[in-house]
Formats: sequence, structure tokens, C-alpha cells
Amino acid sequence: MEFTKDELLPILNNLIIEGKINPKCKNCNSDDIKFDPKIFRIQEYTGKTIDLLSSQRVFLIKTCQNCGYTEFYDALVLGLIDPVTGELKKNK
Ligand SMILES: [Zn+2]
Repeated sequence: MEFTKDELLPILNNLIIEGKINPKCKNCNSDDIKFDPKIFRIQEYTGKTIDLLSSQRVFLIKTCQNCGYTEFYDALVLGLIDPVTGELKKNK
């Protein structure tokens, strides 16, 4: 799932104003960062090929365009996803 650029920019601006996301790189302090409009899922590795019952987390990913340092922001904690329906909350 992903946001459009027009949907993501105001959401990011609000999260920066609220102090929930850092608009600079924690590694090199560059402000040349990029937020991927897609939400990524990381799933617990259980050693099985397919395990639909394993725990999963969803993240907004920020990558520094200067040094490549990447940060993961929990999309549920930021309120970007409805925890009941799993849909993106595009008007946060
Ligand atoms: Zn950096």
C-alpha cells in the first residue's frame, strides 16, 4: 500500500510539526532525506516457508540521500494505518 505524493507531504509536515519524525538524518545530520510513499511490512522469521500467523509490523521508511542511513517508523504508532481495517489513514 502506498500514499500519493499529495497525500504524504501534508502528513509528513504534520508529523514533523508534532515532533514525531525527525526531518534530518541521525547519522550525518543531512536534511537530504526521502520518505518512501509505500508502507512496508516486516514479518517475524519463524523458520517456516510461509507462516501467516507470525507477528508482523508495518513501517514508514526514511532514507538519507547523503549517507544511506535508513530509519523505520512504526506506521501504527504514527496513526497512518487503521488498526481494525488495515487501510491507510490518508487524512491524518
Ligand atoms: Zn545521512
